[in-house]
Amino acid sequence: MGSAGLTIENGRITGIDPLGGSSKGPFVIPSFIDAHCHFSWTGLQAISLDLSGVSSSDGMLEALAAESAALPAGLILRAEKMEEISWEVPIFPSLSSLDAVTGDRPTFIRRVCGHMILVNSAMMNLLPAESPGLDRSSGLIREGIALKIDRLFPPDPETLRRAFISAEKTALSAGVTAVGTFEPIFTLAALRETPLHIALAAGVIADDPAELEEVLSSDRTPIPRLLGLKTFLDGSIGAGTAALSGTYTDGSSAMPVMSDEELTHTIRTASDLGMATLVHAIGGRALDMLDRVCRTLRETSPAALSPGIRIEHAEELLGDWPGSWDATVHSFCMQPNFVNRWQMEDGLYQQMMGSKASRSLNPFASVLAGEFRLGFGSDGMPFGPLHGLAGATSHPDPVQRLDIGTALHAYTLGAADICGFMELATPLRNGRTADLAFLSESPFEIGSWEETELLATMVAGVTVFKDQEVLDVRSGSGN
Ligand SMILES: [Zn+2]
Repeated sequence: MGSAGLTIENGRITGIDPLGGSSKGPFVIPSFIDAHCHFSWTGLQAISLDLSGVSSSDGMLEALAAESAALPAGLILRAEKMEEISWEVPIFPSLSSLDAVTGDRPTFIRRVCGHMILVNSAMMNLLPAESPGLDRSSGLIREGIALKIDRLFPPDPETLRRAFISAEKTALSAGVTAVGTFEPIFTLAALRETPLHIALAAGVIADDPAELEEVLSSDRTPIPRLLGLKTFLDGSIGAGTAALSGTYTDGSSAMPVMSDEELTHTIRTASDLGMATLVHAIGGRALDMLDRVCRTLRETSPAALSPGIRIEHAEELLGDWPGSWDATVHSFCMQPNFVNRWQMEDGLYQQMMGSKASRSLNPFASVLAGEFRLGFGSDGMPFGPLHGLAGATSHPDPVQRLDIGTALHAYTLGAADICGFMELATPLRNGRTADLAFLSESPFEIGSWEETELLATMVAGVTVFKDQEVLDVRSGSGN
């Protein structure tokens, strides 16, 4: 078949005619790769109560009351995407008012960042006596057990299957054909059972390395492919738990949640299993610590670093830059949509940490200037590269802005590279697999992302998503 000057046979590109496509589009690019998402969580969010539209504590209580009344008895009420910072008055409801609308149905409400959860009394009664991060008087959980709630209360297999199908639809309709995803062990088995078009590489979240060893030694093919062992050094800026090098505007501060020894142990454990370590580090103190631990390991046991260290987020990287980061060991996965959503003038980051400290977060250009591998991922906030790319090309610090081609590269070939999708990390040329995204406009010509729509997505030459509405309008207008 031919499309915009491309010929595709048996799933591969067999001819490219750069002049064959009209300048009016569609504009064909290698498919997007989301190097950092939470595939099963994205799906679970889509099939759970969505709180992103509520604008107050009362609005949230109303939504919970309606959902609780509609759910079959015995099920846990899961609510997602709470973002109190966008409410008229950003104050959580009291535990008693939460109980009043949910009664004896166990209920948990997860903040958009995933690092904070609100539970009612019925849910609290199901939690272990020792629940780190839980404040029993308010029902608020920060970090600790908030990060483990799905592992403690795994959704049933049918719910998971629906979640995967939903997440795949979200990805394909955003032009994404492969993802680096972070998954607890219980979803890996379920993912194996669900046939999907999208390619997955999983960073595994496991408390107990023995559990992980069992997965690795299982005689079945490990699907999805394993990307590495995920570990957390801090939380999020929105939840006030990122280990910033300075203080938050309310005077509070946060420390890394691990010691140097614990981090060293995690890196060694991963490396003994032949795996990279994927380190969530947002604040300067967390990044400083990772840099320090890696420096020591390089001197004492360099083999522990050979599978590689991928740094997730690295938002406050410049405080420790250039540090002793090493491009042969470290790669970076960063989130331009965080910039777009929270780092712009008067945004959340400015409120949380002041304008001076927030401006220099997410230094994309510095990472590339240091010749590090950089891939973009959405972290699902929201999912979809087109929502995020403006954060890279309109960064509030002009020095850190990327040009359009470089930004696109980080969300396609660069992201594929840091996830190990080596074929997708190559440019479009004859013989390459035809995983493609069809955009409505060339961003190079219009110079912005707002008007760019995704028209279609191809996996190995097969159209797996087509925006009928946009295509109809286009053919109606004679394009
Ligand atoms: Zn994440």
